[in-house]
Amino acid sequence: MGPQQDRSRSRSTANGGGAVAARKAAAVQYRECQRNHAASIGGYAVDGCREFMASGAEGTAAALLCAACACHRSFHRREQVAAEPDCDCSSTTSA
Ligand SMILES: [Zn+2]
Repeated sequence: MGPQQDRSRSRSTANGGGAVAARKAAAVQYRECQRNHAASIGGYAVDGCREFMASGAEGTAAALLCAACACHRSFHRREQVAAEPDCDCSSTTSA
């Protein structure tokens, strides 16, 4: 028996979506990492991390560490975002 190739796995182009961050109930977001990695040598250099991504599930210690740059969440710029009101407009279709 030779190696079987799954032919059903065709190259379909991902049509966007999927990577959209859920915005509900998020009052605070953590943006760029501002940790100065060159502070010990008197310089200034950040790791270029653009947005905090939790390494683990919320409630665990890993949730406070960035999956991208491994810095603590407190190093990331904190940004207050307005929570969007839960508008249930879709059910108001009156003829
Ligand atoms: Zn960082």
